Amino acid sequence: MESRNWIGGEWTSPTAGSLAVLNPSDVKEEIGVLHLSGESDVHEAATAARVALSSWSRMLPSARGEVLYKMAAVLEQQLNEVAVVASREMGKPVAEMRGEVKRGVDLLRYYAAEGVRQNGAVIPSTQVSVLQYTRRVALGVVAVITPWNFPVAIPIWKMAPALICGNTVVWKPAEFASLTAVKLAELFASAGLPAGVLNLVIGKGSVVGTALLEKEEIDAVSFTGSTQTGMSVASAAAKRNIKYQTEMGGKNAAIVLADADLTLSVNAVLSGAFRSAGQKCTATSRVIVEKAIYNEFQARLRDELARISCGSALLDKTYVGPVASKSQFAGVMEYANLAQKDARVIAKGNVEAKLESGYYVQPLVVDGVDASHRLVQEEVFGPLMTLLPADNLDHALELCNKTVYGLSAAVFTRDITKGMRFLDEAEAGMVRINLETAGVEYQAPFGGMKMSSSHSREQGQAALDFYSQLKTCAVYYG
Ligand code: NAD
Repeated sequence: MESRNWIGGEWTSPTAGSLAVLNPSDVKEEIGVLHLSGESDVHEAATAARVALSSWSRMLPSARGEVLYKMAAVLEQQLNEVAVVASREMGKPVAEMRGEVKRGVDLLRYYAAEGVRQNGAVIPSTQVSVLQYTRRVALGVVAVITPWNFPVAIPIWKMAPALICGNTVVWKPAEFASLTAVKLAELFASAGLPAGVLNLVIGKGSVVGTALLEKEEIDAVSFTGSTQTGMSVASAAAKRNIKYQTEMGGKNAAIVLADADLTLSVNAVLSGAFRSAGQKCTATSRVIVEKAIYNEFQARLRDELARISCGSALLDKTYVGPVASKSQFAGVMEYANLAQKDARVIAKGNVEAKLESGYYVQPLVVDGVDASHRLVQEEVFGPLMTLLPADNLDHALELCNKTVYGLSAAVFTRDITKGMRFLDEAEAGMVRINLETAGVEYQAPFGGMKMSSSHSREQGQAALDFYSQLKTCAVYYG
């Protein structure tokens, strides 16, 4: 498969370089080539989006909704094909990837329906014969910059609300999810999305992202990725006074209290830490366990970890696949080596594939480091879980909040009073009782506190608020 840009309704091949794409489950297999864009491609895409804006933003919202319903239908029809392309490109196990594509379908339908829902409020006037009300209008041309770890759901949870609100989009996907992006754009083109409403530009963040933010006339940017890149996106947007949203890293904790259901908590912690090979912004990476059950919890974790299947992303049975790319592998291995040096290894997963055949990292459970250690403070973004013992709920909450991040957190307990105290005091945008840190549903607000986010939210109503702006209207009819 070769990447192409989709700009103004035309497919083009940019010429600012190319990159071979390797299958992370078997790096001997080259699965495609990326053709990288330069500044002129970005300019064409931003121009096409501007040209398409006036007719798309004036179209009846219900008609825009019809287009989104068609996008959902074609994606649903090709659910398995899209899942396989993504699994081969970035290594998420194919069964998990199918669930992600289904989420994309659900998101499209959710936002399609917004075309006929209320989008304002009547505000009583203090004057006779005056009708005063608000309505939400589009922002204009929106840049959507996405990471590779949710190659289908994240782009759709940005583009669907942006489009239903009447914006046009320039989408820059991550390099390691570009073939998946092309497959999605092909499907959306076949669903009848008018030319220029969605424009796909493949390339490097340093080139395409920078050109979009610094050189082109865009009206807003929605970014998901690392905190470091997000901070530079935010400052570029602030300089131009355009609306921005940055969803960034996490260092999510699960607290397991002494009265927890151990089967439930062990399974949720394993899933939170190791599904997607730990490459979720909401992955569980710190597990804070009350001392009274610390030994028993470790033993249960070791037993369950031995049962999970680690190997090629393309096998249905795989629970932990490879990490996404060579650079991702190098970054995660640095933490795995640090863990072997500074921490105590409690359990290791068994990788069934030959380790050197792909970007495989053995899942690791470690402890024996204090709360200020790099393993406890930095986002690893790989299959590595660090256990921390806690004296009681107070101590557990203190450890949970001792991080610059604030994306998601969970507690496992049968005590409703303790659970509710956790919901009150945990400093995270998504807080859950007896559920893993990952897995917030598509219709609920998604986002973080502290360094995890620009304090905005995605999904649900929150996304509609971001991709639109309020007009206060007043009419005298006396
Ligand atoms: P990244 O920051 O390296 O890249 C994200 C996107 O930004 C990519 O498309 C990249 O090409 C682009 N980019 C890079 N440099 C840029 C620049 N100078 N200007 C504009 N764009 C630029 O992140 P990643 O490695 O793709 O994703 C992993 C990170 O994403 C993790 O930190 C993870 O926690 C985070 N993440 C957060 C959420 C969330 O909702 N909070 C969800 C998923 C992933």
